[in-house]
Amino acid sequence: MKFRPPEAFKPPAAAGYRLLPFRFGRLSSRPDEVLVTGDSGRFAFLSEADFLAFARHQLAPHSHLALDLEGLDLLHRGDGPIPLDRHAVAWRTRKAFVFEGPSLHLFVVSLRCHHSCQYCQVSRQPEGGAGFDMDEATARAAVDRLFESPARQLTVEFQGGEPLLAFDRIRGIVEDVGERNRTARRTITFVLASTLHGVTAEQLAFFREYRFELSTSLDGPETLHNLNRSLPTRDSYARTMAGVAAAREALGAEHVNALTTLTRASLTQPEAIVDHYVEQSFTSIFLRPLSPYGFAKRGLARQGYSTEEFLTFYRRALAHLIRRNLEGHAISEAYATVLLTSILTPFSHGYMDLRSPAGAGLGVLVYDHTGKVYPSDEARMLAAEGDERFCLGSVHEPYRDLMLSEPMQAILAAGLTEALPGCSDCAFQPYCGADPVDAYARQGDVHGYRPTSAFCARQTGMFELLFGYLREGDPDVLRVFQSWVQRRNPSEMRPERPEVFHAAA
Ligand code: SF4
Repeated sequence: MKFRPPEAFKPPAAAGYRLLPFRFGRLSSRPDEVLVTGDSGRFAFLSEADFLAFARHQLAPHSHLALDLEGLDLLHRGDGPIPLDRHAVAWRTRKAFVFEGPSLHLFVVSLRCHHSCQYCQVSRQPEGGAGFDMDEATARAAVDRLFESPARQLTVEFQGGEPLLAFDRIRGIVEDVGERNRTARRTITFVLASTLHGVTAEQLAFFREYRFELSTSLDGPETLHNLNRSLPTRDSYARTMAGVAAAREALGAEHVNALTTLTRASLTQPEAIVDHYVEQSFTSIFLRPLSPYGFAKRGLARQGYSTEEFLTFYRRALAHLIRRNLEGHAISEAYATVLLTSILTPFSHGYMDLRSPAGAGLGVLVYDHTGKVYPSDEARMLAAEGDERFCLGSVHEPYRDLMLSEPMQAILAAGLTEALPGCSDCAFQPYCGADPVDAYARQGDVHGYRPTSAFCARQTGMFELLFGYLREGDPDVLRVFQSWVQRRNPSEMRPERPEVFHAAA
């Protein structure tokens, strides 16, 4: 017999409560306690004895602990019906993005670039190359697909290569989107991911008119940045900072962001990288590890590092960031903020690479300059290396056909952490996400294999670090974390404790 009969799963007659779905695990820093997480994302740290009593239906139903665990949606006291409406609302809130459809639309307007960064994952082309820009017919068809997406809030992001080399195409697309939105009436945000090198006053005036958000790459202090992002003139840092200054002047500092890519050289200087962002008055830093995709793979041997080396760097960088916040500099780490939003609020974050169901295709569509449509930038990079398995079709095909394509079916089938072996019973599952394209790129299988997955090892390390801080409960650290989640200054936050408790045995 494969399955035990239903009666085997019923609580003992005199239990006084029923268990609701939960997962559990132990932090390596606190092996004597059990972290229990529920589907609603609420969690508790229990002593081993309390955990066993809870799971064996041995808690007194009117004890403080039983009441607390009911409040955290981990058990239901009494024989009455479980309030499914309440649980359905929690699920719907955390998974609200499923009802929206793709909200992030990436337009790869040119593959040309003046840089030759060693870690570049894009099949970049020389600045003067021909045939690497998006043509007008492709751009107009991509805008057709954009408005076929049901999402009310749309983000139109321009990428490259260096998208500023195709500024006229950007202008054409933005004006086309603006024109069509007079009747479509969506909320639209424009984003440009650019080095900002040589950005002109005319371009900045245009970005200001259409309220662009600008995102650039800044890898840290000048020497490190120039090492990572090489130019024949060896002045990438000076050009980036000149672009940042001009963009801040034109659009306001809050509309100009930067992110880092971490090479082996970066790992030795977490404090210097954080301090540099503070000195340059950025309010956010995204400490991104190297990508295993496309053309970046070639640089991995020289510039790569292990997950443990990355986590060692990240622990130091995060501790330093917390210190700098407590000194009065409001600056968040973008990835920690994504995870903390999931842990400390009932809502999902907007980060596409960490969703369940997967964000690839369901949340993002990428329009390549060739007219091909991909479910994520990573899928496009695989295609640039000759592996087209995730191409959804052509920009000239209707949205419906793209979303019903075979690659999309494969992504959907492998894109639920709730159903993936290893993830389905992981204590961190309510806060984690599935990325079948990433799993394929790293392990050659869209489902991935958690015991040897570098992605899972990094996620586990990050969750252990953040939950470790939450369990410690230092009010200052919690204040900093809450300020990141609520996008406010730490000095404005009250030192509240989240729902972290260690029940008395
Ligand atoms: S990827 Fe790893 S950390 Fe994330 S849910 Fe799956 S098993 Fe847990």
